[in-house]
Formats: sequence, structure tokens, C-alpha cells
Amino acid sequence: MRQYFRFKRKHPDCLLMFRMGDFYEMFDDDAVAASRALGLTLTERTAGVPMAGMPHHQLEPYVRRLIAQGFRVAVADQIQDPREAKGVVERAVTRVFTPGTLVDDELLAEGGATRLAAIAPGSGEGSHSLAAVDVSTGAFTLFACRQAELADALLRRAVGEVLFPDEHALREPIERAIEAAGASGTPRPGWQFRAGEAEEAVRGVFGVASLSGFGIDQGDPAIIAAGAIVRYLQETQTPGAGSGDGLHARASLIHLRPPVRERDEDACVLDATSLRALEVERTIRGGETAGSLLGIFAGKDGCRTAMGKRLLREWLRRPSGRLDTIQARQRCVSALVEDRTLASTLAGALGPVQDVSRIAARLALGRASPRDVAGLGDSLSRLDALRDAVDGTPAFVEQHSRLGEIREDLSPLAERISSTCVERPPAHLREGGLVRDGVDAELDEARSLERDAGAWLAEYQAGLIAEHKLPNLKVGFNRVFGYYIELPAAQSVRAPDIFTRKQTLKNAERYITPELKEHESKVMSAQSRALERERRIFDELCAASVEQIPTIHRFADVVARLDALVCFADKASRRGWVRPEIVQRPVLDITAGRHPVLDELLGDGFVPNDVALGVEGDGSSAASVALITGPNMAGKSTFIRQSALLVLLAHAGSFIPAERAVIGLTDRIFTRVGADDALHSGQSTFMVEMTETASILNNATERSLIVLDEIGRGTSTLDGLSLAWAIVEYLAEATERRSDGATKGGEGKKRAGPRVLFATHYHELTELEERLPGRVKNLHVAVREWGDEIIFVHRIRPGRTDRSYGVHVAKLAGVPEAVTTRAREVLESLEVHHASPDASAVTAPASEQLALFTQPNPHPAVDELREVKLESITPMEAFDKLRRLKEMVEERE
Ligand code: ADP
Repeated sequence: MRQYFRFKRKHPDCLLMFRMGDFYEMFDDDAVAASRALGLTLTERTAGVPMAGMPHHQLEPYVRRLIAQGFRVAVADQIQDPREAKGVVERAVTRVFTPGTLVDDELLAEGGATRLAAIAPGSGEGSHSLAAVDVSTGAFTLFACRQAELADALLRRAVGEVLFPDEHALREPIERAIEAAGASGTPRPGWQFRAGEAEEAVRGVFGVASLSGFGIDQGDPAIIAAGAIVRYLQETQTPGAGSGDGLHARASLIHLRPPVRERDEDACVLDATSLRALEVERTIRGGETAGSLLGIFAGKDGCRTAMGKRLLREWLRRPSGRLDTIQARQRCVSALVEDRTLASTLAGALGPVQDVSRIAARLALGRASPRDVAGLGDSLSRLDALRDAVDGTPAFVEQHSRLGEIREDLSPLAERISSTCVERPPAHLREGGLVRDGVDAELDEARSLERDAGAWLAEYQAGLIAEHKLPNLKVGFNRVFGYYIELPAAQSVRAPDIFTRKQTLKNAERYITPELKEHESKVMSAQSRALERERRIFDELCAASVEQIPTIHRFADVVARLDALVCFADKASRRGWVRPEIVQRPVLDITAGRHPVLDELLGDGFVPNDVALGVEGDGSSAASVALITGPNMAGKSTFIRQSALLVLLAHAGSFIPAERAVIGLTDRIFTRVGADDALHSGQSTFMVEMTETASILNNATERSLIVLDEIGRGTSTLDGLSLAWAIVEYLAEATERRSDGATKGGEGKKRAGPRVLFATHYHELTELEERLPGRVKNLHVAVREWGDEIIFVHRIRPGRTDRSYGVHVAKLAGVPEAVTTRAREVLESLEVHHASPDASAVTAPASEQLALFTQPNPHPAVDELREVKLESITPMEAFDKLRRLKEMVEERE
């Protein structure tokens, strides 16, 4: 228990799992907390000390559940063979599990928020500097963001845990942002965020004298964040490094990759709200991949390797904003679409490649299994096939030469692994069985002793039976008691003197002889020698692999890229997607575009549509703001989302489902959906909507694409309409300013004219087309009327709709006929008042509608109320006033 409490003091914020024999045990409060969280049975070891535990091989599933419930878990392992222990077995905390530091495949949900980030807070409104790492692959990035964007930045990078200095003026707002991003915050001592210490930690882990090679200047605050991460990983991932002689003693962070700075200028940025609204990685309703954009690149249409899957997700989550990058990917996709044999050869070579990024991480951290090492060897043996596949294809020149270099460095390792390891290696080394026969003379000798022992036993048994005339005698083995000779109880009287009784069973007696004893120790020592030998060989293989980790990473990169490109090409080829032309002009010109997800679901039933924003030529189509009206269920949302998804896909380097497309390079895609309240429980939906709208209006540039669906819906009709009106004007007039050349200085960024698709049920907005000619244009979704019925044809047409067909839709939805009939009557009487307003006279939008809502003669009590002077009234007077007002109201009734 002294040992236990020593560890517990070092890791007070963790549940401590303490290895005892074949179990992990927890004590005291930890045991109580874990028994509650996991439903484990509480027992007592010494009186008054609660205890709970689990078999050691069930550690991972339990840890996963604890992490999901917000716990941190420290694991204390035995680092000494218990047989060699004098007194208490030596133990050490070998790893600490936290939400951001998981590396075991069993613990990592695909696409889950498992990155670890650290914040070096900026001062006041200034930017924070951040670093983020995926410990399971070693990918390390640096980025900056303002406080207001913090939650978003964490959310869209799938950060699960954030380190921040424990004492800081901005601690509270930072913690709030972390919580809003659904991550868990881990305060860390302030000294770990000092520049000197941080830089030293980072230089140490990468073994460099200066960080300028990573594009990090001296005094760069990002290094502080990176340093905090490195220190934390040293504490949690390699806590016992350097002590004892277990595998973990060599654990290192050698798998961390040099930090790469993420610049927004290089990307087509989608904030977390847009990723969600566009259902890029998961659906809004079910939160599932199936039905999302990512979902169409899954299963047989998906990547073959884990690395390809991760890269593709990254490309969709953060499409490129660079023309050269996009075009390079397009060239590869084209080559693969044109040469289907190339694509299938490549796919075949990629198929067997395992997740070598994660294998590298486990190697570095001393947690690799025999299967990991064998898998690495097997994966590396595909190098030749991959290189041959892309040989001679100009689009893949770079990959070809890189694979050549990698091969130089790695083929000796690949050969060594495959000549050493058996084809189907065991999951762990406890019983050996990893190394082939003929690899190591000492191992072979020990193994043959073991094998001969089997024959010896059979001979020995036969000899005893014959010599002592005991036909039922058996020689056997059991783990606890070792070798024995067994006789049925009835024959035990006939046991010869050389037999020494060892164990009495119900119907049998077991014995041992000096000869058998000697044999036993020979076999045991052969076995442990063989095991020892195998462990040595395995360790050497691991060490040799660890040395090659930087090259293994390069291999992983090429594999991921090829895999993702083959995936794009397969999709393009199977579904008839085309290569979009990416241009510098801010246009969006798509002919017969289809929604990538719905198109697969509906097949021929999906109606393709065109979109043209900012296209020079015939008058109104040059407009970069389109207002889309049409009845509910007509297809407005689908159309605008489809446009955004096609732009996203194009920037990821993919082909897109359309007949033809010209797409201007886009810096950001903003998507806002009015009254989408699922995520923001607790906050007013309208407040959320307006906060988001503010961020668009403040951040959009002339290169942005904005997709707004029913904005302004979260408040009263007049409020909402007025806001929607002003927002459209603001976005459209920005274009005017720009083409007039009137935009200057600081205003430039704020007032540039983005491409906008605005779906709305406010028909009044369509007047803006006349008020802002050439800048705003109307589109509507056509419906066909059939007597009293309407048929949705899902076709986008120029011009406005004048009716919303809400009553029709209500009828379709099964609202009782009495209600829809009455609604139609009310509608007709209202429409009498609702003459089309004179466009030039509209100062307040839809002044006509105002009349419907304001009262002609206000109640006299209202005047009375206006007179009340709140600053001077006493409680008694207030009460009197209230009584009077109430009387006035009751009189009028
Ligand atoms: P709105 O936003 O106008 O209320 P939606 O975009 O939500 O309408 O579309 C309603 C339904 O119509 C969708 O669920 C989809 O199944 C169908 N739909 C929309 N656009 C198309 C299209 N172009 N082709 C076929 N079906 C479509």
C-alpha cells in the first residue's frame, strides 16, 4: 500500500490502476468512483479499504469507458519479474490515459475528438497561439486564433483535451471555450508556458539546436504551446522512461513529427458551424457518417488504408485554398480516371498496407505488439508494387521518386522483419511464437529441446507401464503442479517406491519421480530460454524500426495521398463526376450540378440544377447574390447546400457531380441555417443565429461563399424580415463599392462582395432585385400546380415566386381539411391588403405588412404607463399605479 500511495500522490487527478498478478486493482475513493462508473463489484482487502478490480486483459475497454466519462487513468505496472522480486514487486506508472493522449487502436473511435492541444494565451483581445498533436500518429500542428474563435478552432480540429496555464487573466473565458467545444481542459503549471523552458523541451524532443528549420522564429509564442504539449506527453506517455528494464523504459516521443504551421490563407476554411450544417462528417440528426459527405467515401467506395481515410477526412474538413495544390490533386485524379488499370493496380497494392503511422507511434512509446512489427514489415514489402504502379505516369512523378528514396532506406528493414517473423504472429509475446525457425541458432536449440521433450514423455510413460505393469498409468502436465504421473485411486497401492505422492484427487493419485523432476526443469529452462531469446529478437526488431520512424512517416504520407486520390478517382469514374475548372475570378458557374449525397440516394430521381454567381455576360446573372424563394419542401435547402458542397469538394481536389463547372478560388465557405437549435441548448437560438451572422458579415471577403438558409426566422416576422433585408443589402452593396472602386483601406476586407446564396420564405426580399440591379438576382424553385394540388419538380428557375404554398404543404402533411380550408379563406382576405409595394418607396421593408401587426388605437392604459417615472416611484405608489392600470383594463373590457 505504501507503493500504491506513492503513485497516487504523484497522480492525484487520476484513477490509479495497480497491477497485482493478473488483475488491475483500485483502492479507496478510486475504487468507489470506478465501481460506480463501471458497475464493478466493491470488495475489501484490508478492513475498511474498499477495492475494485478487473482482469488485466480487460484494461482497454474499461479505460475507454472511464475516459468517455471524463476520468483520467494512471496505470501502475509490474516492471520486475515477480519471481525475481525480493519483497514487494517493483512497479512503476507506465502510462497515463487522458482524452487527448490515446494511442491504442481499441481506444480511438474513428473520427473522434482525440487530439491534444495547448494554448499560449494572447493578451487581451490579441490572438492565442496554439499547438495540437495527434499522439496516435505524431502529426503536430501550430495555429493561431482569437478568443472569439477559440471554441470553433478546437471543435473543427477534433480536439479532445486542451492544456492551459493554471493562472492566467483569461483562464475563465478560455475554460468556457474549451467546454463549448466539448473538450476537457487540463490546467498546467505556469512555468511550463515560459518561452525558455518550452523551447528547450521542443528542441530536446526533436534533437535540434534551433527551430528555424521548422519555420519557427525565436520568441514565436506557438513554441510555448508546443513546449507545453511536449512536457505533458513526457509526463503521461513516458513516465517511467529510463527506469527499470521493461519495454516502456525505452519509451520516447520520437514519433512526434516536426510541427507544421496551419495558415488559414492556405485553406478554404469551414468553421465548425458550417461543417455541421453541411453535414460534412456526420449527419445533423443521427450524428452518423452514413448520409454525410464523408459517408459517400466509405465502404467499397472508400479508402483502403487507415491513413488514406484520415487524409481524406482532413481534405474534406479543411479543403485546400491553393490553386497549385488543388490542380496537382486534380491531375492525379484525371490520370486515374483515364487509366482504370492504373487505378486498380494501385488499389491492389495499397490494400494490404496497415496503419503504419499508428504502428510507429506504438513502437516509439514501447507498446508495439508482435503483430505491429510483422504488419510493418508486410506493409513495407508493398513498396515495390506501389512504385511500379505509378511508374511512367507523369502526374505521379513526385510520388514515384519519393517511393524510390523510401525504398532505399526501408527495404533492409522490411526484409529483416519478413525473414524473422512468422506469417501469422501471435497478439502478444507471452508464449512466444513470433520468430521463424532457422533464424536464430540458440532459439532453435531451445525449441528442439522442448519438442524432443514431448517424445521423451511418451517414451517414459510407455516404459513405466511396461516395467510396473500399470496399464492405466498416465504422464501429464498442468500449469500449477508441473509434470506428474497419475494412477487411478484403486491402483495407488501398487505405486512403486520411486513414486513420491504429489497430489490427491477424487479418483486418482498423482506422483513425481526424480527423473521426471529433472526432465521438468530441463523443459522449463528450455522454454524460458526460448522465450527470452524471442523477446530479445523482438526488441531488436523494434529498435531497428524505431530508428526508421521518420522514413516510415514519409511512407505513410505517400500511401495516404495515393489512397485518397484513388478514392476520388473511383468515385468520379463510377458516378460520372467531372473535373471543375478552378479560377482566380470570384465566380460560381455550375451546369447541371447534383447534390453529392442525395444523388446517390435518389439516383435518377435527383433533378440537376445550374448555379451562376458573378458570371459576366447577360445582365442579371453577373449578380453575386442570389435569393431563392419557393414553397417549403421544394428544394431550396438542397440547392444551396449542394452548391456549397460542390465548392468544398472542388477545393479538396476531387471531381464533382455536374456536367461542367467553373469555380473561383474560395477562401471560406460560411453556412448558416436559421433556427437550428439542436446544438445550442441553453442559448437563445436567435442569439446564436445573430452571433453567427455577425461573424460572417465581419469575416467574409470577396473570395468567400456564403450560404444562408432562412436567416431571421428566429425572431418576429417583422424583425426577421428587416434583418434579412439589411443583411442582403450589406452583402450585395459590398459588390457595388468594389466595382465602383470606392473601397479603401480597412474597409476593403470588411466590405468586399462575396458570393451569396440566400434561401428565404420572405417574398418581400425579392424586391431587392430591382433595387440592386445586377447585384442581386432572384431564383425560385418551380412547382407545378394541378388543380388544387401542387407537384414539386425541384427545378431552379430565374425570377421570384409570389406564393408560398404553405397551405398546400400543410394539406400534404395531413393537417385536417377544416383547418386548411379555413386557412385558405384567411389567406385570401389577407392578400387583399397585400398589394405589391412600390419598389422605390420602400424604406422600411414591407410597410404593408406593418399594418397587419400594429394596433390603430392604443389602449389609454399605455399612455398612463408611459408617464410612470421609475426612478422616483415608491413601492406604495407603484402598487397603487398597478391597481389603477388593472382597473382601466377591466373597465374597457
Ligand atoms: P426546402 O428547403 O425548400 O424546404 P428541401 O431542400 O429541404 O426543401 O427539399 C425537400 C425534399 O425534396 C428533400 O428532402 C429532397 O428529398 C427533395 N429534393 C430537393 N431537391 C431535389 C432535387 N433537385 N431532386 C430531387 N429531389 C429533391
